Amino acid sequence: MMAVGGKRMIELENYVCGRWVGPGADATVLDDAVTGEPIASLSSANVDMAASLDYARTVGGPALRALTFHQRAALLKELGKRLLDPEVKEELYNLSHRTGATATDSWIDIDGGAGVLLTYASKGRRELPNAHLSVDGVPEILSGDGSFLGVHVHTPRLGVAVQINAFNFPVWGMLEKFAPTFLAGLPTVAKPASQSAFLAEATMRVIVESGLLPEGSLQLITGSSGDLLDHLGSQDSVGFTGSAETARLLRSNRTVIDHSVRFTSETDSLNAAVLTPGAGPDTAEFDLFIREVVNEMTTKAGQKCTAIRRAFVPAQYLDAAIEALEAAMTDIVVGDPSNKSTTMGALVSRGQRDEVLAAVAAISETADVIVDSCSFTNVDPERGAFMAPTLLRATDVRAEAVHTTEAFGPVSTLIPFSSLDEAVELVALGQGSLVASVYGADAREVTPVVAGLAAYHGRIHIVDSSVAKSSTGHGSPLPHLIHGGPGRAGGGEEMGGMRGVFHHMQRTALQGSPDQLTAITGELMPGATAQENKGHPFRLSFDDLSIGDSITTESRRITRQDIEDFANSTGDTFYAHMDEEAAARSPIFEGIVAHGYLILSFAAGLFVHPDEGPVLANYGIEKLRFATPTRPGDEIHVVLTCKRKTQLDGRGYGEVAWDTKVINQAGDVAAAYDVLTMVANRPGVNGATES
Ligand code: NAP
Repeated sequence: MMAVGGKRMIELENYVCGRWVGPGADATVLDDAVTGEPIASLSSANVDMAASLDYARTVGGPALRALTFHQRAALLKELGKRLLDPEVKEELYNLSHRTGATATDSWIDIDGGAGVLLTYASKGRRELPNAHLSVDGVPEILSGDGSFLGVHVHTPRLGVAVQINAFNFPVWGMLEKFAPTFLAGLPTVAKPASQSAFLAEATMRVIVESGLLPEGSLQLITGSSGDLLDHLGSQDSVGFTGSAETARLLRSNRTVIDHSVRFTSETDSLNAAVLTPGAGPDTAEFDLFIREVVNEMTTKAGQKCTAIRRAFVPAQYLDAAIEALEAAMTDIVVGDPSNKSTTMGALVSRGQRDEVLAAVAAISETADVIVDSCSFTNVDPERGAFMAPTLLRATDVRAEAVHTTEAFGPVSTLIPFSSLDEAVELVALGQGSLVASVYGADAREVTPVVAGLAAYHGRIHIVDSSVAKSSTGHGSPLPHLIHGGPGRAGGGEEMGGMRGVFHHMQRTALQGSPDQLTAITGELMPGATAQENKGHPFRLSFDDLSIGDSITTESRRITRQDIEDFANSTGDTFYAHMDEEAAARSPIFEGIVAHGYLILSFAAGLFVHPDEGPVLANYGIEKLRFATPTRPGDEIHVVLTCKRKTQLDGRGYGEVAWDTKVINQAGDVAAAYDVLTMVANRPGVNGATES
């Protein structure tokens, strides 16, 4: 820290190669968004960028790849919890206010960032194997005799992910990129935008001090990225968020081009909200539309990549919409973001405000200003980066400036339309956006609008009164759903649940024999050799069980009486099981058949081992298909084979999926499915109780 005008100024450091590196002599000074006073200085002049990338590749990468998906998920969970520690949060919130953010804005950034870690931790544990690679899709049988297969797998890339972030969400922006990357097993070098880097740096300090992450898995460069991109290679990637102009520059970096470095960008986006004609001024949907336009204008002072920049209303409702928006905007309290009653804080810097005002001037060439003034509470709007929320109305609905000038601040433009087709056409003039919202209760109006908008958007948010309380909001990217959009939104895609993880992995098609592919993937492939020499596999502990351990059961004859008894005891008296003549007329059954559930039940009676033992519970069935009808007189037996094992760390048991085939006397498969069970570890192993 150094003193500036009696106040302490933070000297931001870089965290590279396992240590903090100070800023150097050429440091840039950053101003407090609220007071305009210097708050921090930063520079990456002392950072050896090539060494930082090497460190990620040689220290971070191997450490991460030594962990399974579940182990990485567990670390993300601990880290998320750490960031939500009340003391940690208080420190981060205090800094966040200095970026102009209110408590609500800070919650989105800080708690939202921790929330992404927790969501990825939970989804990673549930949706990925406790292994180092993940199978993508189902195997393809490539030869007539089934001896040659193909299967796709995802494996971690061996490089480093460089993540360059925008200023508006210094915590969330860093963590939403980091979480899926970490889960994928790829180390990250993060570069926050300078203007709010003091909050990203403080977050990084919490992360480093937690000691949770493997060394080298996350590094931080404050200040310029210097020659970082010039040292990238073919296993590396760049994830960029910021302006389209910077994206163009970075994407055309010679090294990025020469090495086909994966480049993802999230850039400008003139997101839309469309009010449908059925959602007139007397409807709940109209009110929801008005509320969300104002909310998106004021949250984070409109500095949100997802904010509603263009609000489309049926021409007949334009006056009503203006009136309602003007009224709602009188409630906005612009002022000191650390004050609880403030609903809109400052922009991140006065420079940013100048840019927004210039953009408003450009849009105003073809739009009228409806609202652009407010009173400022307890702040000096000239010293701090404050501006009034600004509402415009397009006078030329097709003017380029209205659809392509991004005023990255508290600004929105109302655009009237005369038909839904025209609305779709006008929205598309934005050339691709992150998100659009459609407001309306009438599916006949909403459906064609969604169909028309989908190709131009990464996410579409559909609002009617039934989701008034439950909707997560137009402007909230969620870890479960894709964040990104085509065209001018950058063409990138982040998060989206496991999709976001797989973006950071290499998908490879493997071709080979069923046994080879089973050994490589750790998952039973069709046609792989089954082992029947270890006794009933339900008697084997999780640790003693191997993929391919199998049992072929005795046979059981299904009688007409069995079918009638089953029908009577369950109440399922569907004609195909009961009525000889009607069943004969069925083009599918051509006679009486057994219930599918009877087959499942009888199959369980054949393969289940009755004794208390390692199999603790059956928690479901997956991929069930009844392939051939089972008729009275048929004889069925079951082949049950261990297909996939997922150790649940520390619980004393793991999940085991069993490939299950019910086969009739002709050798045809009557039913095929995966039985899902929990199987205990050996006593004393993985937390299992000692016997
Ligand atoms: P920006 O000026 O393009 O900066 C974005 C990032 O790029 C910052 O970290 C910046 O670092 C860095 N950068 C700038 N020039 C660079 C260069 N020549 N070489 C390497 N790095 C460079 O954008 P911004 O002003 O921070 O953010 C506002 C823009 O971001 C808006 O257009 C907004 O739409 C967009 N945005 C998009 C999304 C999305 O998800 N689609 C999200 C948020 C923001 P310095 O700060 O150190 O210059």
